[in-house]
Amino acid sequence: MNNDPTPTATNFIRNIVINDLESGKHQSIKTRFPPEPNGHLHIGHAKSICLNFGIADEFGGTTNLRFDDTNPLKENEDFMNAIMEDVRWLGFEWDNLYHASDYFEQLYQYAVHLVKTGKAYVEELSAEEILEYRGDWMNNEPGRESPWRDRPVEESLDLFERMKAGEFEDGKYVLRARIDMASPDRFMRDPVMYRIRNASHHRTGDEWHIYPMYDWAHGISDAIEGITHSLCTLEFEEHRPLYDWFLENIPSPGNPRQIEFARGNLDFTVMSKRRLRELVEEGIVSDWDDPRMPTIAGLRRRGYTPESIRAFWDDMGVSKSNSIISMGVLENYVRNDLNERAPRAMAVLDPVKVILTNYPEGETEWLEAPRHPQKPEMGNRRVPLSRDIWIERDDFMEDPPRKFFRLRPDGEVRLRNAYIIKCTKVVKDADGEVTEIHCEYDPESRSGMPGAARKVKGTIHWVSVEHGIEAEVRMYDRLFNVANPLGEKDRDYREFINPHSLDMVPAAIIEPSVAEGKPGDFFQFERSGYFTIDPDSESRDRPVINRTVSLRDSWAKMNK
Ligand code: ATP
Ligand code: MG
Repeated sequence: MNNDPTPTATNFIRNIVINDLESGKHQSIKTRFPPEPNGHLHIGHAKSICLNFGIADEFGGTTNLRFDDTNPLKENEDFMNAIMEDVRWLGFEWDNLYHASDYFEQLYQYAVHLVKTGKAYVEELSAEEILEYRGDWMNNEPGRESPWRDRPVEESLDLFERMKAGEFEDGKYVLRARIDMASPDRFMRDPVMYRIRNASHHRTGDEWHIYPMYDWAHGISDAIEGITHSLCTLEFEEHRPLYDWFLENIPSPGNPRQIEFARGNLDFTVMSKRRLRELVEEGIVSDWDDPRMPTIAGLRRRGYTPESIRAFWDDMGVSKSNSIISMGVLENYVRNDLNERAPRAMAVLDPVKVILTNYPEGETEWLEAPRHPQKPEMGNRRVPLSRDIWIERDDFMEDPPRKFFRLRPDGEVRLRNAYIIKCTKVVKDADGEVTEIHCEYDPESRSGMPGAARKVKGTIHWVSVEHGIEAEVRMYDRLFNVANPLGEKDRDYREFINPHSLDMVPAAIIEPSVAEGKPGDFFQFERSGYFTIDPDSESRDRPVINRTVSLRDSWAKMNK
């Protein structure tokens, strides 16, 4: 795996950039990432972020973060702040922060230019009529021209100005570009450029009563900022002729080129902001940052590292063909990254007590254990051992099958980082449930001692009863239990929520080194998986810990 944030794998966009620099078309490149602040960013957006920032970084260019805040009804400051936090967390810093709303005046002036040159007009057909007049473009039938298409320029100018001044109610008029109602490209059939919205905008307040449509605002914003390569997802391919037409028909301040690439898609999740909003609003998840969400905020809280996400998208590459990446691949990236970097620790999720009957009562030994078995530079942690310890309930079986190498009556097992123990007695309650296991430890068997080399088949993890700390562990898994929750039309993805996407372990026992951690710290709980400390820890009486991912991919096994 490649953990280097600089993308090295080549792709067609990178090749275009290289050509443009070599041919002298551009001295330097400028990209932008243009989120609409109407929700949180998700893992798909991260692909676009890695691409835009990555390619500019690689070639010494610059990248703007531009909020596409052209719809006052759905956007707000909280989303903007969350987006900035997420981009920074991913490891990128923008050269400039802009808003499409910064350009409302310029956009308006360019629109006036189009009206004056006979290339835009004020329409008063209703939205339904406009749609109907657009005609059956799928069957190559031309649309019909609006009766308002030849409205005199002066009249359009006057109406447009009054639209801007707030004289009309929503929907009364729109401004349309005057292009070609017979174009095979539906977006060229006199597209709407402005609509009336008597709404307050979170940045411009009540100054504007008309708001630009995406196609109009986007390319012009690119041109104003001097963007050289405007990278967007494939669904905008059809919009490119319009993108270019707008730039050709105004005195454009720049000459950006739109280049489309395939969206990043993942199975076992949903990604559109609409669905994500539903999950939040219907309480199916706790919030946008629920660790089961494919949002950047959710992944962060889940314990994903920015390094793993960047490496994932760098390695997945950029192309023009749509595909769906399996969730197991993403999970492997975080697993591999944390395998390298996460300190090891022991935690018992479903504890049963073991008493080391020959261990001196009241005594504690602080054993040195490596934080990482292959990384001595990470140093050691100190793990306390005392007479009573917790082990995992399923690491003991009274009547085990042949290949069970953990603890059994009269059997021996090694305590991880400590001694070999032998089971001498099992205590059960009235229901036959094991309540206590008595063992004798071999005082010579610890590392550095004469009996250290003695081999037993199994090693289990454990935590001292006296020193262990109770923690709430949230065992997260995939949010959906089918690869394609959306499936065919009309299917309700809510029916495919994985009932085990969150299993709560209210009182797991963790070793002291974990309890010393702070939110965001990550660990490998030996033999179990990768875990991170949740921010909820600060408001609770005990640490709250999230499982990021299990040690091995159990879904892959299920598929086989
Ligand atoms: P969604 O459809 O998921 O709600 P969006 O495209 O409406 O997302 P924007 O805020 O408009 O969200 O997107 C900002 C940028 O991120 C756009 O350039 C868009 O093309 C890109 N983007 C969005 N989703 C993906 C994805 N799955 N893969 C790659 N880029 C994406
Ligand atoms: Mg959008």
